[in-house]
Amino acid sequence: ERIVTSTADDLERAAEAALRPRRLEEFVGQLVVRDQLSLVLQAAVARGATPDHVLLSGPPGLGKTTLAMIIAAELGTSLRVTSGPAIQHAGDLAAVLSSLEEGEVLFIDEIHRLARPAEELLYVAMEDFRVDVVVGKGAGASAIPLSLPPFTVVGATTRAGLLPAPLRDRFGFTGHLDFYSAEELERVIIRSAGLLGVEIKHAAAHEISGRSRGTPRIANRLLRRVRDWAQVRGDGTMDLRAARAALEVYEVDELGLDRLDRAVLGALCTRFGGGPVGLSTLAVTVGEESETVETVAEPFLVREGLIGRTPRGRVATPAAWAHLGLTPPDPLTP
Ligand code: ATP
Repeated sequence: ERIVTSTADDLERAAEAALRPRRLEEFVGQLVVRDQLSLVLQAAVARGATPDHVLLSGPPGLGKTTLAMIIAAELGTSLRVTSGPAIQHAGDLAAVLSSLEEGEVLFIDEIHRLARPAEELLYVAMEDFRVDVVVGKGAGASAIPLSLPPFTVVGATTRAGLLPAPLRDRFGFTGHLDFYSAEELERVIIRSAGLLGVEIKHAAAHEISGRSRGTPRIANRLLRRVRDWAQVRGDGTMDLRAARAALEVYEVDELGLDRLDRAVLGALCTRFGGGPVGLSTLAVTVGEESETVETVAEPFLVREGLIGRTPRGRVATPAAWAHLGLTPPDPLTP
């Protein structure tokens, strides 16, 4: 796995658990969503009612799961966790829903990946707090309505646009999480270092934050690698020298690009004069599958304004040439 990927495996999620903010006031950044959510939750608590269902959208690693846990904590209730891909049949979802207790929060990660029959069952449950339990098979089957105690669904999706409108409409509140500023990530890093029981110099936190691609998950991961370096090759001090040396070992540069990102940019500039060049040609040149280049490297390069996508292929922007320390060819020179 790349060190700058924004997704996490189970092992990493376990390491992340210790770093999660537990309450809304500890959650760094995302001021708009935080403020709106705080109103929704406080109002519900004051009324003694369950809040509207909440949809959280945004790229991986920005804190959707963390916010779902915080919502349950702020409501003083427990969180039940499932995900779109984990629910194979509508019956699986019916079982989860019918076991919910009053006021509980049901977190459905990757909600856009729910199968259609489960999705339809969910609309009804969210709107009318009811599931129809099907008893029997074939012509003799009948649906027995089962009423559910009030609960709150928190859905998470990387792409709200993929949710069918009827499901989207069942959410009374939608919060969109955006990439974090370097200053916000610096605060995440200093907070995490404190929880890990290590002291970090401000300059080191600043250095890591600039290379974390706007993503707390990456910031926390790079922090752990810097801690390793300081412990094994340094004198334990997490200073600028340790941060730079560790990130050099992992080949993460000042913009947060790794080796693959730089190979793509380098090929585009030096082999193809800055483009335009087709995706598959570019991929072959760096020895990767087209899909890897398109889904793993390109989104961040485009977001950073280093690569442009045109109908004739990929082009390097002036920022790409500058980042590689190269001079773009003069367009007037044949
Ligand atoms: P995925 O969709 O891949 O599950 P996610 O958006 O749910 O990602 P989380 O698992 O909530 O992301 O967060 C990843 C890590 O980043 C966690 O360790 C969490 O503590 C940390 N983190 C996320 N957002 C914040 C924040 N605002 N303040 C402090 N730490 C954060």
